[in-house]
Amino acid sequence: DKVLRLSGVSKGYNHGLPTEVQVLRGVDLSVAAGEIVALVAPSGAGKSTLLHIAGLLDTPDTGRVEIAGEDMTGVPDRRRTAVRREAVGFVYQFHHLLPEFTAAENIVLPQLANGAPRREAEARAATLLDSVGVGPRATHRPAALSGGEQQRVAFCRAMANAPKLLLADEPTGNLDPETSDRVFAALMHLVRDTGLAALIATHNLELAARMDRQVALDQGVLA
Ligand code: ADP
Ligand code: ADP
Repeated sequence: DKVLRLSGVSKGYNHGLPTEVQVLRGVDLSVAAGEIVALVAPSGAGKSTLLHIAGLLDTPDTGRVEIAGEDMTGVPDRRRTAVRREAVGFVYQFHHLLPEFTAAENIVLPQLANGAPRREAEARAATLLDSVGVGPRATHRPAALSGGEQQRVAFCRAMANAPKLLLADEPTGNLDPETSDRVFAALMHLVRDTGLAALIATHNLELAARMDRQVALDQGVLA
């Protein structure tokens, strides 16, 4: 029931220099369905690199990435893209919602792109927005929403195509503590509702403590 399994994942960058900087050194990490894992690490520790590898946006130098039991080592790009689209949802520190579309449309569009009928996509968008308390704001564009509302919409968008794995990179990083708390509560609610596996990078230790499990990334090694 492991949705994500990283085994011995290493990644380095050489920045054009002769010596490589090892960002990840033999990282082993599994996240099961229904489990919310906090990834805690200081800035520059390699959180984004780890999340990009877990989400098939990047490949490790060595080691294995399995998504829902499928070993992604050496699979063709087309398959990687398909698995990413079907199985993985991303949330970033900044919402990246499409500014010219409403909150609801931002959640409908990825579903249409995935072949869902418009009526079903709209119903799902409404359900998701209601579940995080943004239903009444569904017809507003992102600029008319508060920061907390924008992030809650971004979570709904990440969930639009019912992923198995949610990856979030400092999703409350630009919010004040009280708003972070509410956004995080909405996220927990969504994850619990769907039985999704979630890996959430944060340096908010209070939020991390409320997740099921914490892992810390230090000097490229997971503890
Ligand atoms: P975090 O998300 O924890 O802040 P990152 O994963 O973004 O850390 O970066 C970790 C280290 O890897 C940094 O030193 C960064 O400069 C380096 N790095 C990240 N991505 C690249 C890249 N595409 N090319 C070169 N170096 C990179
Ligand atoms: P949240 O905790 O969800 O971020 P806030 O307490 O910041 O909410 O905002 C309360 C209400 O004020 C929200 O319904 C939101 O739509 C509205 N609001 C906040 N910021 C803005 C803004 N920049 N433009 C328009 N409405 C805003």
